Amino acid sequence: MPNLSRRDLLAGSALAALAAPSGSAIAATPDAGKQSPGIYRYRIGTFELTALYDGIWYRPITDTFIRNVPFAEVEHALDAAFMPHDKLATPFTTLAVNTGKKLVLLDTGTGGQISPTAGMVVDNLAAAGIAPKDVDLIVISHFHPDHINGIKDKDNNLIFPNAEIMVPGPEWAFWMDDANMNAALPGMRATFLNQRRIFSDITRKVTHYDPGQEVAPGIVTLPAPGHTPGHTVFAVHSGSESLMVLSDTAQHPAVFARHPEWQAAFDVDGHQTIATRKRLFDRAAADRMLVTGYHFPFPACGHLIKTASGGYEHVPVEWQSRL
Ligand SMILES: [Zn+2]
Repeated sequence: MPNLSRRDLLAGSALAALAAPSGSAIAATPDAGKQSPGIYRYRIGTFELTALYDGIWYRPITDTFIRNVPFAEVEHALDAAFMPHDKLATPFTTLAVNTGKKLVLLDTGTGGQISPTAGMVVDNLAAAGIAPKDVDLIVISHFHPDHINGIKDKDNNLIFPNAEIMVPGPEWAFWMDDANMNAALPGMRATFLNQRRIFSDITRKVTHYDPGQEVAPGIVTLPAPGHTPGHTVFAVHSGSESLMVLSDTAQHPAVFARHPEWQAAFDVDGHQTIATRKRLFDRAAADRMLVTGYHFPFPACGHLIKTASGGYEHVPVEWQSRL
């Protein structure tokens, strides 16, 4: 087969268009005009998991986005990942775990309060046949708004009326401390105020867990501080199978798995973030564990392999039509 250049291909498609007889019967099916539901099911042992796509935010970035490398290096990585230089693709995927006894939601999405292109968890739950009232337990990884805002709608009403809410104790201790809020840089103040909006009138529904604790049979929390002081990841175990839920240990893997030493401006403690990331990624790669990341491209699960350059590559799962 001859080598075809891009120019040859473009010329070829132009020729094909010319060759199509005018008035030929091209099917007049109307465009769907919208995406299909963002749900993906898989099993861990006897547990049925449903990845629920909440949408995507294109986070504006500048040359201060990564603290510890020159922006030219960041631009090189963005080019390699086919990403623009001024925004970071930030998809959101929450995970529902049906243990057979409890329906557990790990983080809640944006509640439609971060970006007009996100806020689809409830629609996707409906597409998955799950009613918000059926969620028994919400377990929060950390207190950034893209993880907690889906507890409530824009009008401050609970979206999951029957769910107990479990939050990491160290996360609550840091963010709900008014002295920390008053000492924070002005840009962080909105984060503290948002947490008070979400939690202050529902404290009776909220319990605090110690990272390390099992919050439901088969769902173990693990401390993963750095991104925030109480940032937590989860191990889901059933039978002989396991999944590591990496939360925000790394955001988009094309940037932060390939460059695990990069400290993003949004990490509260950059050095601790990196130590946590390498510890968890090394373990996942060595044990060939299935992992999911909250900001990985949908369906957000796959495996991590360690590369010769000292980074990691995310290998997405294959779509499974049958469970
Ligand atoms: Zn996040």
